[in-house]
Amino acid sequence: MTADAPLRLRLDGKALAQNWRALDRLSGTAMCGAAVKADGYGLGARPVTERLIAAGCRDFYVATWAEAAEIADLCANMSLTVFHGVRAEDMAAALDSPARPCLSSAEQVARWRSAAGGPCDVMVDTGMNRLGVSVEEVRNGLLDGLRIDTLMSHLACADEPDNVMNEQQRTALAALSDATDAARISLANSAGIALGKAYHLDLTRPGLSLYGGIQVEGLASDIRQVAFPEAQVIQRRHIGRGDSVGYNATFTADSDMELAILNLGYADGYLRGFSGTGMARFGDVKCPVIGRTSMDLIAVSVDAASEVGEGDWLSIDYDLRTAASQSGISQYELLTGLGRRYQRVWHE
Ligand SMILES: *Cc1c(COP(=O)(O)O)cnc(C)c1O
Repeated sequence: MTADAPLRLRLDGKALAQNWRALDRLSGTAMCGAAVKADGYGLGARPVTERLIAAGCRDFYVATWAEAAEIADLCANMSLTVFHGVRAEDMAAALDSPARPCLSSAEQVARWRSAAGGPCDVMVDTGMNRLGVSVEEVRNGLLDGLRIDTLMSHLACADEPDNVMNEQQRTALAALSDATDAARISLANSAGIALGKAYHLDLTRPGLSLYGGIQVEGLASDIRQVAFPEAQVIQRRHIGRGDSVGYNATFTADSDMELAILNLGYADGYLRGFSGTGMARFGDVKCPVIGRTSMDLIAVSVDAASEVGEGDWLSIDYDLRTAASQSGISQYELLTGLGRRYQRVWHE
């Protein structure tokens, strides 16, 4: 990415570190790790990992071995886990990596055993029916003799604190606490941390809230926005009553209007959900998104910002809770969709 991209993501390293420290504190006596999969939820796995190590985090989680390789050098003295375990074609990389697989099926357990792999984590399915060995398999000795660091499960409904499934999953995992030789047991993601002490166990695994996501009120006062998109004005234009804007002419002006055309579009993750709903700002002046989001461009009204012109930068409202309700796009998707065209600029 060139240094003069017309689109940038201002990243607040201090907020990232504070969010981890808040989640660590909220995790009580449990250790607090960090999910840095999907390139650190779109912000950059390496800069995120460096900052979280400096903040005191010691346990990191990625989805694949390629993601593990990206940060393996940073994690040489850390705990690094690959959530998706080991496929046959991962074995060479896995045996060579400082990362542990999180084994999630009898096939993966057998594969790891027969290669005499070292320490591993294990995912137990307690009701989500995504990845994981069954509770019965654990009870029947599937894991006997494995060197397990962390026995974990994953909550399906942590962002719904009243959902009975949370307690069912917690009880199912807790019942296995003596069934294996695992050194640690872990259940909670970001929202799970807010479910309280019974969910913290030995280790928590937040992702979303590190990066500013807030799905439950219990985290609202502690979590700060980390990622701030900013887009440059490519052109300013005047339109009159009856003129339309953008693809399919979904917006028609009912009076004279001033527009700025910004270098930001759905290929940058600013999806069509923001058409007519998103908000840009020039300083404190609100500049609403007008008409439909294009692949690389949006139009915003600058009626209230008479001085805006080519080359100026506007900030894009991206508080994740607000942006999610404006656009109908989940907070996770808002982060991981940010795309490669942003120049990512870390402050601290
Ligand atoms: C992604 C993931 C997490 C982190 O979840 P958040 O909701 O982003 O906090 C934790 N554990 C597992 C198994 C995951 O896949």
